[in-house]
Amino acid sequence: MLPIYKMQHSAAALRTALIGRKMLSFATNNSIALTPQVGQTIEEVRSFGRQLEVVWDDGLVLNTRMKFTGSWRVYRSAEQRKSSAARAQVVIEVAGLSAVCFGASVIESHHDFDPRRHPILGRLGTDLSQVDADLDECVSRMLSYEDSDATIAEVLLDQRVMRGVGNVYRCELLWACELHPWAKVSSLNRDECRELVTIAAEMLRANSQQVAVDPAVYGKHGKSCSRCHGLVRVTHHGEANRVLYWCSDCQIRHAGTSSSRYVTEHDTPPGVHPAEYIYLSELARSRDLG
Ligand SMILES: [Zn+2]
Repeated sequence: MLPIYKMQHSAAALRTALIGRKMLSFATNNSIALTPQVGQTIEEVRSFGRQLEVVWDDGLVLNTRMKFTGSWRVYRSAEQRKSSAARAQVVIEVAGLSAVCFGASVIESHHDFDPRRHPILGRLGTDLSQVDADLDECVSRMLSYEDSDATIAEVLLDQRVMRGVGNVYRCELLWACELHPWAKVSSLNRDECRELVTIAAEMLRANSQQVAVDPAVYGKHGKSCSRCHGLVRVTHHGEANRVLYWCSDCQIRHAGTSSSRYVTEHDTPPGVHPAEYIYLSELARSRDLG
């Protein structure tokens, strides 16, 4: 039987190998509801008990529940193809490395904006990466958002309002518009909503044409902001607890308007990924308790 602490070790190895990298290929021999898309960035690896979850930038979550002998391992890609292909249940490939899952009893995927948790779900919003996206419809949905206390950072990931904005672009978009991440959505006027949606559409279309842009804030915690030389910070925010990077010195529009629910305040030391930092903090806490 594989002890739980081994699961934590394999989660740590997976974090080092995968987090912040673009996925080059994905394969599984199980049928899953949603398939992770090539080109999306892997954002977090979470482990609880015998479960391990991989989270992509677009909010897709792959959940694997291990049998006693199950595990995730990291290989150099060429090595993996030779040694483990037959038994692999999931293979996630990034540049030079493959993360492989063996012996899982359950493999499932869902979007972290889960319709089952939102039973009054309306129809999906427009996909902003498409040239014919209906930007006005998107603006109207923001202005009439059902929960007026929701933060703009949460609303940008709500698939009923708009689709295509993953977490990287959410952070970049808020920075571009100088918006505080937990500005209340209802405090934004029509022009501000229009500006957000227009810039989002431009960013997503530039991305689809493979225009490489260096992020202003995403992954830049501890560095100085290119606009104001303030400090780029990181925290976790929203019902899905996604990682959020922002400049606390110049992103101040509508600051203090929301009740800031679901905010996990923490500043990760520079050079350490926030997911890794949370993992290490949790580990230290569990040792203290033990
Ligand atoms: Zn700044």
